Amino acid sequence: MTGSFADIAHEVIKSPKEGPERSTKELVEPALDAVSSAHAAEPPRSQGFHISGLFDFCPREWALGGREGMIEGDPLAGEATGSLIPERFNAEKLLVFAIGHAFHRMLQDDILGKAGLLVGTWKKVNHDEYAEGPMPKEGVWQYVEPTIDIAIEGLPDDPRWHIVGHSDGRLAALGKIRLGEFKSCKSTIYPGLDKAFSGVARIRDWWAAGGANDRTWAEKYAKGHSFQLHCYLEGLGIDEGIVFYLPKEQPNDQPPMKEFLLERDPSVLETAKEKVRAYHAAWNEGDWQGPLPRKICSAAHCKRAQDCEVVNECFSV
Ligand code: SF4
Repeated sequence: MTGSFADIAHEVIKSPKEGPERSTKELVEPALDAVSSAHAAEPPRSQGFHISGLFDFCPREWALGGREGMIEGDPLAGEATGSLIPERFNAEKLLVFAIGHAFHRMLQDDILGKAGLLVGTWKKVNHDEYAEGPMPKEGVWQYVEPTIDIAIEGLPDDPRWHIVGHSDGRLAALGKIRLGEFKSCKSTIYPGLDKAFSGVARIRDWWAAGGANDRTWAEKYAKGHSFQLHCYLEGLGIDEGIVFYLPKEQPNDQPPMKEFLLERDPSVLETAKEKVRAYHAAWNEGDWQGPLPRKICSAAHCKRAQDCEVVNECFSV
């Protein structure tokens, strides 16, 4: 192994260290648990604002939808209905969710954990036993992802108004602790990631200037995933993080894994808080007549606007 974390990670993925093997039951059960808890989950907005969804979250869309009668009831009580309320996970999404979960477990427990590169809390599988630090050598262990729960200044200290999420894990290498964010990626998007990540330092300016301009899927991944990682860095007080991508099918002439190192930028979490505050003000305790949040799209033809049910109202106000 040579100098960089990338070298170490590549080496580990090529030849994971030996360790206790999991039974098929131990491999499958956590993914099934994750799927059933996703299926049973309350609709969004009743359990806090999840970091993974905040990048594309548009408070203006909710405010305009509420005014247009597309939302009935209180979204924060988990009882709202209407065309703007996202569907619960359908079978196809649950399958994607299960595959993503298995991919994370493989990286966390069977590759980085066994290599001693992932540190934090470990739970012994099928036991009520926990350990801190690198994965213990004896027994079968599962990584407990660090949780983030951030109250927002100026809003009620109610968990439903918090920014919440789970980081993929703390990586220990080369004398540093960094956060890891693990992503699988379509092979059609993978080659474009290097160029897309060259602009992520400007993420706050990008949103502040209007945000969701026309963009490629690689840019959407780069900006959305780096937004996510920045919020985790801030929530856990860690200064650097790495977004890792593994392609679902390996494209020609591309490395088997890509990783992008990012330094903590507190302004990104501020951007996320700003969105939640704008939503809170627009909701105005139940009638959506509060101040209309500003646009996150600069044009009605941008990718985000094309997915928006109130695009016409948005650009005519
Ligand atoms: S068009 Fe864009 S800015 Fe306007 S409401 Fe929809 S998502 Fe928000």
